[in-house]
Amino acid sequence: MIVMKFGGTSVEDARAMKNVIDIVTQERGRTPLVVVSAISGATNTLLSAAELAVDGKIEEAINSLNDLYERHILVLENLIDTRSTVQQLLLETRRRIDELKHLCQSIAVLGELTKRSLDAIASVGERLSSFILTEGMKERGLPAVLVDARSIIITDDHFASATPLFNHIEEKAKATIQPLIDDKKIIVTQGFIGSTTKGITSTLGRGGSDYTAAILGSVLNTEEIQIWTDVDGVLTADPRIAPAAKKLKILSFREASELAYFGAKVLHPSTILPAVKKNIPVVVLNSKRPNSSGTQIVANPPKSNVAVKAIASKKGITVINIQSTRMLMAYGFLESIFFIFSKHKTPVDLVSTSEVAVSLTIDNTARLERVVTDLEEFAEVTVYDRKAIVCIVGEQMHSTAGVADRIFHALGNINAMMISQGASEINMSLVINEADANEAVKRLHAEFFEPVPEMELFESVGAA
Ligand code: ASP
Ligand code: MG
Repeated sequence: MIVMKFGGTSVEDARAMKNVIDIVTQERGRTPLVVVSAISGATNTLLSAAELAVDGKIEEAINSLNDLYERHILVLENLIDTRSTVQQLLLETRRRIDELKHLCQSIAVLGELTKRSLDAIASVGERLSSFILTEGMKERGLPAVLVDARSIIITDDHFASATPLFNHIEEKAKATIQPLIDDKKIIVTQGFIGSTTKGITSTLGRGGSDYTAAILGSVLNTEEIQIWTDVDGVLTADPRIAPAAKKLKILSFREASELAYFGAKVLHPSTILPAVKKNIPVVVLNSKRPNSSGTQIVANPPKSNVAVKAIASKKGITVINIQSTRMLMAYGFLESIFFIFSKHKTPVDLVSTSEVAVSLTIDNTARLERVVTDLEEFAEVTVYDRKAIVCIVGEQMHSTAGVADRIFHALGNINAMMISQGASEINMSLVINEADANEAVKRLHAEFFEPVPEMELFESVGAA
């Protein structure tokens, strides 16, 4: 059994949905459980309609719901041929959109919008897309069955970012899903949505469909989880910066997590943690190019001789240098520094220390002034903005001699003002001037990947 999750762009229109049905048909032999997102943009439209309503802009809210209705009608009319099915779907879609309009009207009257209502409203996106997709599958002869995720994904009541209750979910999944699987049915369910133990609709937070896929894969112990999206997978670098970038066929969960910070927007690693913990491979695939092999993310990939797997960079970094003679031989100094960052809710990314100074980086400067004022109570503070972090990632880096040498050699005249080799030892991060960031990535990519060190690990982008 496998889980196949399709994101919003994979079901954005009738053509995309047909494509999804073809992909699922090909995997039929592996008993797929399909997790589907709302059609692209639907969740945003639903949430903004609710916001418009609470601001009293009810007409605008209704208009955007009408647009959403039209989009769904277009999808279903172009996907389904059987007149009676189209009729049934039209009625049901209209009924649900009408319900939303009433809800928005009440919100406008009350002038109050709770997270609980937002979840109820947002859930309609996935409920409609899954309904249409299931009918499309049935019409093409697949034994599809729609299972409402709210009957399985049981969560706490922290609406808008609810926590799944694994024990409940496991019980429900085994009771509901297993018999259907045994019956060789193809189950379709919604990503992102769930319900509390009291049966009230909740959501796992934005982008939560990947999480749903991993949760279901883990409680059902599936052989694989496929995340179908609109990119080929994880690349060795941003191809806009390094045009020779290749796709990685496999990487470790830890490598994927490091890269996520740098905006490798493929998926958020924390969402697939339940799968990784159970050693279930997660494969990221491109529904626009289904024959490309994708990127597999696993807990422990087979050892390879490739030390460096990817180069990433992030601009807009600010370095804060904190210097104080009080640090010398004192304990509690770092604690007092980090207390200030936590008090002002400012995450710190890289840290490097010497006997008398601490340098650290932040990328959110919204509360920088307050942080600096507090730090200046006991230290000398210097702020450097317009910096970038360049990160070199690879599980085998620490056990390969000469990597650092190659990095600095490749960088040549680009000066690093801060260097941090993570304790995790799977990355080296360098802080450089923002203006040098692209050139640094290009040079490092040329050094480590042009030509690629071991072809089995990589695939050209646009191949297949
Ligand atoms: N539709 C939801 C969102 O846009 C969940 C998802 O797509 O993963 O956030
Ligand atoms: Mg999404």
